[in-house]
Amino acid sequence: MEQARLRRRIRRPRRVTVLLTTAAVALGASTTATAAQLAQSSFLSGGLARASAPCSPAPVPGVEMSEGLPTPPGRVRSTGTLKALNLMIDFPDVRGEGTARERFREFFPRTSDWYRTSSYGALDYRAYAPVPRWLRMPRSFASYGIKRGSPYSPGYRRLVQDIVNAADPRVDFRLYDLVNVLVTPNAGPSAVDTVLSVTYSGLRDVPKADGVPLTDVSFVYSRQDDGSPTARHNAFRVLPHENAHAFGVPDLYTADGGGKAGHWDVMSEDWGAGNDFLAWHKRKLGWLGGGRFACATGHGSSVHVLSPLAGPDGKKLLYVPVSDTAGWAVEVRTQAGNDHAVCKPGALVYWVDAAVDSGSGPVVVADSAPDSGGCAKEANANAELTDAPFGLHEQFSDRRTGVSIEVTGRDGDGRHRVRVTRP
Ligand SMILES: [Zn+2]
Repeated sequence: MEQARLRRRIRRPRRVTVLLTTAAVALGASTTATAAQLAQSSFLSGGLARASAPCSPAPVPGVEMSEGLPTPPGRVRSTGTLKALNLMIDFPDVRGEGTARERFREFFPRTSDWYRTSSYGALDYRAYAPVPRWLRMPRSFASYGIKRGSPYSPGYRRLVQDIVNAADPRVDFRLYDLVNVLVTPNAGPSAVDTVLSVTYSGLRDVPKADGVPLTDVSFVYSRQDDGSPTARHNAFRVLPHENAHAFGVPDLYTADGGGKAGHWDVMSEDWGAGNDFLAWHKRKLGWLGGGRFACATGHGSSVHVLSPLAGPDGKKLLYVPVSDTAGWAVEVRTQAGNDHAVCKPGALVYWVDAAVDSGSGPVVVADSAPDSGGCAKEANANAELTDAPFGLHEQFSDRRTGVSIEVTGRDGDGRHRVRVTRP
């Protein structure tokens, strides 16, 4: 268990090359509640909060997968009905372990249910498996040379072409919005040690099938299962994570692991106890319409009421813009819905920066209790940040930008009243 908790997870960002055109500046600025953590985080240097900063920071040119809004075109749509083609594959040297149907059932209907819950019903994720057996690849697994961080060419290009050749007689690829390749779990290393799972999204010059380029393909290997009950039950979340890349959502873990955003988003940690998306990601995915979003602009104080993220009603996200690309976000997290590991409910405060790319820490959670060790009761969650939310009468303040956020009230339904003060 300890080993599982300590393991470092590094998953390949969606593309072969990650262009980082924005210099991240490590700030020495401190925050009363979160000095230790924020001192090591990367912020754009940015002066004081600007009252005129935008409530919807745009994607920043040169950032491949940005937190900016709206997500640039070319991504898979994350509202309405989504049709996912699932193909289970094995190899001459690595025969399918169990049946292909069993492999499919590791991920469904759980992935569809997870998305329905997270999206408040906005995304109707339909999974299809028109070939209910292992599709045997013509070459050995070893011959594709797949490793963590493998580029698309030549290995994945060859694999996708072989998948097309094997499936095409029985599959009309025109019917689907994205493809999940569920690889037999005995191919490659254990996901507890090395994560091979990856999504290629938006690439040009990819193999076509039925006249359609296979631009959005998620590959899932092994199982994120270290034997603990929660890990086994929730191991499917690698697929919601991978599919979210096809929707344009970046990775929140970094080369150092999940210390920036902890267990507060499936793009940071997708193993262990169940978790949800941050409200920011729900907004990015188009699920926070109907007055579920508020923005605190202007000088001075304003008061806002936020409902728990897991419930259907009320405001879910408050954003306090600080610069053209970045600001503080606030949401209320409770142990409900997709969130299983919440041990200190409250107002989660985090920094979002559209200028920081996937895998470099575009989100940094502010810890209400730095160096506390957290309150985690579940293994496999970043322990330190599990008690990050701010409780009643607790206050976050950021000396650098002058923004402060205080929880001034809480009712029996979990609604939190927060007062934002900005210079
Ligand atoms: Zn990822």
